[in-house]
Amino acid sequence: MTVTVTAATATDTPLDFGDPADLDQLRRRFRAWLAEHPLPERGADEPLPVFLHRWHRQLHSGGWVGLDVPQAYGGQGLSTLHQVAISDELGACQAPGIPRIGYLAHALLEFGSEEQCRRWLPRMLSGEDTWCQGFSEPGAGSDLAGMATTATRQDGHYLVRGQKLWTSYAQFSGLCLLLARTERADPATDPSARPHDSISAFALPLDRAGVTVRPLRAANGDDEFCELFLDDVRIEESERIGAEGTGWPLAMTTVSYERNALDTGHISRYGVLVERLRRSARDRRGELPDGLLSEIGRCYVDYQVLVAHTRRRTAERLAGRTAGPESSYDKLLMTRTEQRLYETALRVFPGEFFGEGESSGGGPLFGDYLYSRAASVYGGTSQIQRNIIAKRVLGLPSAG
Ligand SMILES: Cc1cc2nc3c(=O)[nH]c(=O)nc-3n(C[C@H](O)[C@H](O)[C@H](O)COP(=O)(O)OP(=O)(O)OC[C@H]3O[C@@H](n4cnc5c(N)ncnc54)[C@H](O)[C@@H]3O)c2cc1C
Repeated sequence: MTVTVTAATATDTPLDFGDPADLDQLRRRFRAWLAEHPLPERGADEPLPVFLHRWHRQLHSGGWVGLDVPQAYGGQGLSTLHQVAISDELGACQAPGIPRIGYLAHALLEFGSEEQCRRWLPRMLSGEDTWCQGFSEPGAGSDLAGMATTATRQDGHYLVRGQKLWTSYAQFSGLCLLLARTERADPATDPSARPHDSISAFALPLDRAGVTVRPLRAANGDDEFCELFLDDVRIEESERIGAEGTGWPLAMTTVSYERNALDTGHISRYGVLVERLRRSARDRRGELPDGLLSEIGRCYVDYQVLVAHTRRRTAERLAGRTAGPESSYDKLLMTRTEQRLYETALRVFPGEFFGEGESSGGGPLFGDYLYSRAASVYGGTSQIQRNIIAKRVLGLPSAG
């Protein structure tokens, strides 16, 4: 991820919604704050999540994190629209977005008890606690319901045993939203039992005895991924989120929020690159081959479709609709837009990918290009998003 701010303030944002007065005021207030509190410098050897955590704390100190979370839980008690507008501003000036905790916060808001929301949400929003997501396992990524990690109840607590994989930035996290199987239903005695029904969710402090976190190096040079080994780790009942067996709906809620484009700032960030490509197509008309000009046109169309779709989704959320399986459309559109955009930019601005001196070995856009390749995998692969749309949105029958 590139973390330089290219302009002190945003001047053109795609998700303006014909801003009502209070939103317009909020945007102005945020731009003024941003001009006085610019993105801090990243230290030469500072790991990306440590740097982003400083940015998170800075944003929180200005009151810019958790805009749509109730004030009782440390948020600002505003609407989705306010959250979207601020992310839009950040993306437009190429700053890293609001920390991606919205989906964890929504999972807690929908499934946590009052006491749990008060205990965890304010510290999550302020950055005092950092969280990671322990869903995937070596044998359970797309087929998440096939997970093997177990949480066995014993004298009022649980003992957790198993392994998680691809847990982003677990080495920098204090807590993990963990899925584990509590009681396996027996299909022999209950033919309607589904593997989904025995999954429960927990907030696991990662400094517990029996937890081992081992980082894995990714292609872009970041130690983003971790393996998490859980060897008879004790978890208290008060750390279970929701009732036993409600881990599956919690997980689906979490990924539905994770898959949408609303509060990520991605759209305005893509918008900056789309505009640069559009200008190149105009100014370098005789120089760029026709095929490449067509690709720039496709980038523009993908981007406009994503903007229109996200505006509609924001309106739905404002009308009270929670994120659901339709978020798979968001994820597919975001993935298509992002991957085509960086592939095209690679051909139009090769110097920005293959420059010298960057830690990833490339120019300023190189890391973003590499990360765009992962968009069709993280948060559920593109094939799985299509399956979800076919089954859960369109109600089509399964093959075979
Ligand atoms: C950058 C990044 C960050 C991540 N962060 C986290 C994290 O923080 N926490 C976490 O829990 N996980 C995380 N993941 C893991 C991610 O959720 C999984 O990689 C993803 O769900 C796919 O699972 P898998 O890798 O096991 O692939 P598999 O499930 O083994 O799939 C392999 C291939 O088979 C295809 N396939 C599988 N089943 C079907 C099917 N039924 N129909 C059609 N095709 C199918 C898939 O689409 C894929 O192409 C992250 C992944 C990435 C890339």
